Amino acid sequence: MKRDDQSGLAAGGNKVRKLEYLLGAAAAQGCDCVVTAGAAQSNHCRQTAAAAARLGWPCHLLLGGEAPGRPEGNLLLDHLLGAKIHHMGPRRQGEDLPALADRLRAQGRRPAVLPYGGSNALGAAGFVHAMLELAGQCRTAGFAPGAVVFASSSGGTHAGLIAGGAAAGWHPRLLGIAIDKDLAGEGSLAERVIHLAEATASLLGLPGSRSAEVELHTARAAAGYGVVGAAEHEAMALLARTEGILLDPVYTARAFAGLLDLLRDGRLQRARNVVFWHTGGLPALFCQELFPLPPEVRAED
Ligand SMILES: *Cc1c(COP(=O)(O)O)cnc(C)c1O
Repeated sequence: MKRDDQSGLAAGGNKVRKLEYLLGAAAAQGCDCVVTAGAAQSNHCRQTAAAAARLGWPCHLLLGGEAPGRPEGNLLLDHLLGAKIHHMGPRRQGEDLPALADRLRAQGRRPAVLPYGGSNALGAAGFVHAMLELAGQCRTAGFAPGAVVFASSSGGTHAGLIAGGAAAGWHPRLLGIAIDKDLAGEGSLAERVIHLAEATASLLGLPGSRSAEVELHTARAAAGYGVVGAAEHEAMALLARTEGILLDPVYTARAFAGLLDLLRDGRLQRARNVVFWHTGGLPALFCQELFPLPPEVRAED
């Protein structure tokens, strides 16, 4: 297991890798505050707030939905991290980012505007680095994974891993487990990953990646984003009770449930080494709406 849930910055997660590049560039360009958008329980927004705190920058978050009576999970941490929170109701996809950035510029600020999920070519560059890191660790350990399995949502993680594999000349099967049924804007997740992988390779001056290799297991996404069902509960309980490792209800539980599907139906051979990339998300466990500790997970006696 690759433990990006231990990546540092306020409960960890995969967005730290993207933020290293996104905010590094923003600092070099003289920015002095950051704005981004996401769902109320966005891990990306919570990690952005933490990174901004490290830089000493104000952080504005445009979050979907209404202000809850009692903030929980990631939203609670956003408050603790000092983010300026704007609850946007139905405008949940960052529609108002340009207007907010204009308002800040009119006040003399220089905002860094980060895309939804931190997923543009520069953010994905963090996962090129991550893939090179994994290749090096596997080489040192004498471990040859047949497949790397991970949650795929806004596509930056997946795209960076593809571009990084091409850069390293290292080709374990990259198997994304789709988390969202519908994506904002045009195109499928696979198309978005292809475009982003190519843009990332071109930004870094790397050889282009072979787009035919985008492999996605989409069946688990059918239930809808953030709908935590029996398969996710099974995955969370299994990892917690056999390894003492916590998955999050929205992303990594679904990704691990997808991995179990593939093992059970033979699409992944049990004999092959598999790396599960744990992308984080811990705070969502402490959001009642997402994880109310359902009867099937409750341990009594
Ligand atoms: C954002 C996120 C992902 C998905 O990463 P993308 O680059 O958006 O595809 C997976 N797991 C967790 C916990 C996340 O927060």
